[in-house]
Amino acid sequence: MEIKLIKGDITEQAVDAIVNAANPTLLGGGGVDGAIHRKAGPELLEACKKIIERIGSCETGEAVITKGYDLPASYVIHTVGPVWQGGESREANQLASCYFKSLDLAGSKLLASIAFPNISTGVYRFPKELAVDVAVYTVKEWIKAELGNTTLQEIRFVCFDDENYVLYERKLKENNLV
Ligand code: ADP
Repeated sequence: MEIKLIKGDITEQAVDAIVNAANPTLLGGGGVDGAIHRKAGPELLEACKKIIERIGSCETGEAVITKGYDLPASYVIHTVGPVWQGGESREANQLASCYFKSLDLAGSKLLASIAFPNISTGVYRFPKELAVDVAVYTVKEWIKAELGNTTLQEIRFVCFDDENYVLYERKLKENNLV
């Protein structure tokens, strides 16, 4: 498994699937969600609306998949991160679930590459350092459990801001992952 750390824009990643930090309505929003919808085009919103008609809403920690439409990525995995409420409301478990379920979905679609943004660390205010711990730990555990049994070959962490990039660089080095 190759782990890559990238400073940049997730909408430019030519991978099989990019992950969207969505909200429960899947109707688009600001931040990375808005950027993904703008680049993917209106068909993405239509696909999201169809999913919501079927499931009602996408719960925190859950993940669903659509095509990528005008994005370089073939698919978008929409996952709903937790809103930080002080840490006593299972936020870390919910964030772990976002990473775990996104990886499971990519695996079930037999994809080879996936790119993650820094879920919940924008308007959802999850502390960045703790979010990095959760992301790296969860991805590492998932790989350990799946290796030899998954089509995934590459996992990218795409950091938009310098602070996240520095935190990821340190954490991934500590874990001998880059
Ligand atoms: P959330 O509601 O889950 O906090 P945000 O979109 O507000 O979602 O922020 C999540 C992270 O995505 C933040 O770290 C933000 O810097 C980052 N981000 C914003 N735009 C992009 C983009 N185009 N590509 C990658 N990451 C982005």
